[in-house]
Amino acid sequence: MTMSTTGWSGPVAPPAVERIGAELSAARRLLRRLVEVMAAPVGAQERLDRMVRMIAADIVAEVCSAYVLRGEYLELFATEGLRPSAVHRTRLRLGEGLVGLIAAQGGVINLPEAQSHPAFAYRPETGEEIYHSFLGVPIVHGGRVIGVLVVQNRTQRHYSEEEVEALQIVATVFAEMFASGGLVDTAAFSSDLGRIGRPERLEGLRLVEGVALGDAVLHQLRIEVSRLVAEDPDAEAARLEQAIAGLRASMDELLLLPEVAEGEQREVLEAYRMFAHDAGWRRRMSEAIRTGLSAEAAVRRVQEETRLRMVHVSDPYLKERLHDLDALADRLLVHLTGRSLMHDPATLPAEFILVARSLGPAELLDYDRSRLRGVILEEGSPTSHVAIVARALDIPMVGRVEAAMSRIDPGDRVALDGDHGQIFVRPGEDVELAFARSLAARAERRRAYAALRDEPAVTQDGMRVGLHLNAAFLIDLVALETTNADGIGLYRTELAFMVRDRFPDVEAQTEIYAKVRELAGDKPVVFRTLDVGSDKHLPYWTFPHEENPAMGWRALRMALDRPAVLRTQLRALVRSARGRPLDVMFPMVAEVAEFAAAKELLEMELARAEARGEPLPGAVRVGVMLEVPSLLWQLRALLPRIDFLSIGTNDLLQFLFACDRGNPELIDRYEVLSPPVLCFLRELVERCREAGVALSICGEMAARPLEAMVLLGLGVRDLSMTPSDIGPVKAMLRSLRCGQLSGYLDQLYHLSDHSLRDRLRHYALDHGVPLHI
Ligand code: PEP
Ligand code: MG
Repeated sequence: MTMSTTGWSGPVAPPAVERIGAELSAARRLLRRLVEVMAAPVGAQERLDRMVRMIAADIVAEVCSAYVLRGEYLELFATEGLRPSAVHRTRLRLGEGLVGLIAAQGGVINLPEAQSHPAFAYRPETGEEIYHSFLGVPIVHGGRVIGVLVVQNRTQRHYSEEEVEALQIVATVFAEMFASGGLVDTAAFSSDLGRIGRPERLEGLRLVEGVALGDAVLHQLRIEVSRLVAEDPDAEAARLEQAIAGLRASMDELLLLPEVAEGEQREVLEAYRMFAHDAGWRRRMSEAIRTGLSAEAAVRRVQEETRLRMVHVSDPYLKERLHDLDALADRLLVHLTGRSLMHDPATLPAEFILVARSLGPAELLDYDRSRLRGVILEEGSPTSHVAIVARALDIPMVGRVEAAMSRIDPGDRVALDGDHGQIFVRPGEDVELAFARSLAARAERRRAYAALRDEPAVTQDGMRVGLHLNAAFLIDLVALETTNADGIGLYRTELAFMVRDRFPDVEAQTEIYAKVRELAGDKPVVFRTLDVGSDKHLPYWTFPHEENPAMGWRALRMALDRPAVLRTQLRALVRSARGRPLDVMFPMVAEVAEFAAAKELLEMELARAEARGEPLPGAVRVGVMLEVPSLLWQLRALLPRIDFLSIGTNDLLQFLFACDRGNPELIDRYEVLSPPVLCFLRELVERCREAGVALSICGEMAARPLEAMVLLGLGVRDLSMTPSDIGPVKAMLRSLRCGQLSGYLDQLYHLSDHSLRDRLRHYALDHGVPLHI
């Protein structure tokens, strides 16, 4: 074992083979002695006192002390050898003294003469001036140092590698016992126990706007290891081998499934499988078993080493692999303990912030919506489907937060600022207060918006604006009542497909659409046909691996190549109408011929229903989503054939600027409020007006007050957005004079500015148009 006074001292590096026999016996002997103390029916403090006494005797040290992290300090919790009165009195900051250094760096310190070390901090109340040699090891839990275990001697002795190993093994046991409350009476101490109470600010990418406060819940539960020490290393080694074999077999089975035939999921699984065969990983676990740990405790020990390394590694590739290894250790623990990684919903806090590495929409929906306040992801992009779902549910979300899972502890207080992509972990009182105020102000604004519910959506110069909702789930329909919106301008049918585990047949789909209509009452609903592909996958379908999926086989392209799928959906939509109007919209139309082919399928379904004597829709209105710029030059042929056009600005902008909407590097690269976008939209509005075709906007652009203001100035009169955006947009438009703004926009089209945002914001300010969210 290497030893160092700085940085990670690498228990990851295995001891040289010739030393193993001697080292392991010392650790095993010590563990065996500790077992009795561990099991004694005494209180936590008494158990801890006995354990430090036992360790001191075994290592033949005059001192053995346990320090536990409490808030910003490492507090002396038990000692044999130092003055008993120093217990719970002596405290060292992280980084202060040798103990603080171990905690800050996660490494081992082994010194024959501690007092000459520059970091040595003398604490008179401990009486430690008489001790010279010092050995300290970190107690690591959840990838973080939660305490330090120290032995000291009067003589200038150098602790052997065998002793270092033994103390490290004991620290593993301490960590697990600590987590289960067996060593420290958690009820008697404040909630900062074992935590770095220091506030931390993490940065990420804003995925869904909004502010949230709550207690952290980690998406994957940490499996508690209760059986720590084992008598028979051979039996434990056999258990480990069996668990690894089980793990490999389950991985092989997964790889045979058609849905993981290709793509990212397969790459991840293959990386897992590779690690499951990794000899180094297995050897480290086997060695830990030889020291007397149970198989599960050995897996945990190696997992903690990996986690600690993760904090210190900056290379993204290596970090990724360490993540894989961490996830694999969790799976192995499931095999060994038979426990599950899932949460019991009843135990979740009343207000919580979910922290996950990545999350699918179905997993998000598994959590109780009434308690879930916000989401933090280590991955994610703003138009990933989990973000779309979160936005639909009005749950603020921040993504790309590096190492969030290891930097946030379960139960940590978290303040999430989705507007600016920042997270405050364990915030100070002032920050928490500021967030609470912001939440209250938002609630107040919402109340004010709610008061606007029955006020007409009419501008100062008398323009009536249609405000519609974007919806994806039945739960969204409730908002028609609360916002008094005019209808559903975009019903994303694919979300219902994405959260199921098999393709819904005609009956299942008819049921969904009929329910949507029922909940919508007399208000119109525009059903968009299946828009899958790109970043929206169905768990039961194999999607081809594509270099450029956003421009690939998706939406209507896929539906026209699989007409049976589209016909199934159209049949269900026709059936669900039962005499009421039916509004159908096709996504990602790139040429008139595609629309014509899709419409032909709809007509076939209408004819089929008629032939079978089924009730027909009252009126059928057919529309197109304009997301591909090529349509602008086909409007002459297209507009006479359609009843309405809806602009999907999310996709349109990525194609207009050739800029991947899911790429976080490019998020602020191009500006929606810029001359080319405004010119494009002006042309479109003009053509639709001439042709008498209804035009609406259903992309995110319609949902932000400033952008929505510009759309109204361009002549757009129908907007569709998520329910929480209705209030701010309505407040904005009721103060706006559209005609005046149009005149102002005329001065901007020819400019060469990258962004017109500041000018437009000033315009709003000067004309008293509120832009609050
Ligand atoms: C769009 O592209 O603007 C749109 C509304 O569709 P989606 O976000 O579902 O792709
Ligand atoms: Mg789209």
